[in-house]
Amino acid sequence: MVNSYIPNTFRMPVKARVMAEYNSLSELRELLADHHGEPILPVGEGSNLLFTHDYEGVVLISRMVRARALDEDKDSVLIEAEAGLKMDTLIEQLCDMGLWGMENLSHIPGTVGASAVQNVGAYGVEAKDVIVRVNTLSIADGTERVFTNEECQFGYRDSIFKNELHGRYIVTSVVFRLQKDGEPRLDYGNLRTAVHGVPTPSSIREAVIAIRRQKLPEVTELGSAGSFFKNPVISSEQFLALQMQYPDIPHYDALGGIKVPAAWLIEQCGWKGKSLGGARCYEKQPLVLVNAGNATPDDIVNLATAICRDVKTKFNITISPEVNYI
Ligand SMILES: Cc1cc2nc3c(=O)[nH]c(=O)nc-3n(C[C@H](O)[C@H](O)[C@H](O)COP(=O)(O)OP(=O)(O)OC[C@H]3O[C@@H](n4cnc5c(N)ncnc54)[C@H](O)[C@@H]3O)c2cc1C
Repeated sequence: MVNSYIPNTFRMPVKARVMAEYNSLSELRELLADHHGEPILPVGEGSNLLFTHDYEGVVLISRMVRARALDEDKDSVLIEAEAGLKMDTLIEQLCDMGLWGMENLSHIPGTVGASAVQNVGAYGVEAKDVIVRVNTLSIADGTERVFTNEECQFGYRDSIFKNELHGRYIVTSVVFRLQKDGEPRLDYGNLRTAVHGVPTPSSIREAVIAIRRQKLPEVTELGSAGSFFKNPVISSEQFLALQMQYPDIPHYDALGGIKVPAAWLIEQCGWKGKSLGGARCYEKQPLVLVNAGNATPDDIVNLATAICRDVKTKFNITISPEVNYI
């Protein structure tokens, strides 16, 4: 058992009634049996969580951090990584090995387990593009269950583990397929111009890290959970009406309509760089809300609520948090 604050990159000083770490599947099964029927929350680095109060349940943290090659064919390698491993540590190793597929996801905080739950994404790539299967343990009875990529029902920062199976499974490891000869994916943002020399997994990784460092706060320096809001998808009719009023409105085609960057909407509402209590809308990227010093959970919630309200009033668009409130 661990008796300290729950890890979270917003740096909220919150505690759990019980917080425990495990080093093996048998230890995890024992913990699940000991706490049968109690609220259970698996936490990685807490980089997508906003704790609004202490957690009246059991926080479980994986210390299982190994990765290994399972199989390979002439084109690709199957890698299994345990859920507690830092995603970026894995990606660094894979890039060093010259394997393609995850380089665009470099420098995203968090663990391998959460990457599947969240379907993390950046620079035109999502975890779902490389995930083959997700190994889990049932919280109710400790039995193992394997989910294929399709069964995970991945969506934009979304999966079955956030929806109908929310709170029912703990991800124990994830199997990824990496390519030996990959296609660089450089069409997103200014990635192409940021890559120096021949694009390789490592040179793309370096470029991604350099861009991210310019735009996003480092969790070691400023508390945040990355992008606080999802980019909304609106109907073509609503978009065309808005475009008449705002000819420069940025947009992308998306499943079910037109995606409008929430950062632009927030900036238009005048929130960029503004504070409310101890919370601030980050001056370099308004999609990010930061703990400017001593923010309370209420400060972050109040700022998020005010931003949502203003975007709704000005554009009649509902933006919703990507961050999980606990
Ligand atoms: C500065 C910054 C930049 C970011 N940039 C990006 C980005 O570019 N793209 C992006 O997609 N995200 C980004 N994020 C968000 C975050 O990094 C990801 O969502 C990440 O996957 C969260 O990992 P974690 O281990 O911290 O999970 P946590 O925040 O601890 O948990 C997230 C969710 O996953 C669940 N969970 C965690 N581990 C397990 C497990 N083993 N089994 C079952 N459920 C589990 C938790 O219960 C919770 O619901 C950013 C965050 C920060 C702070």
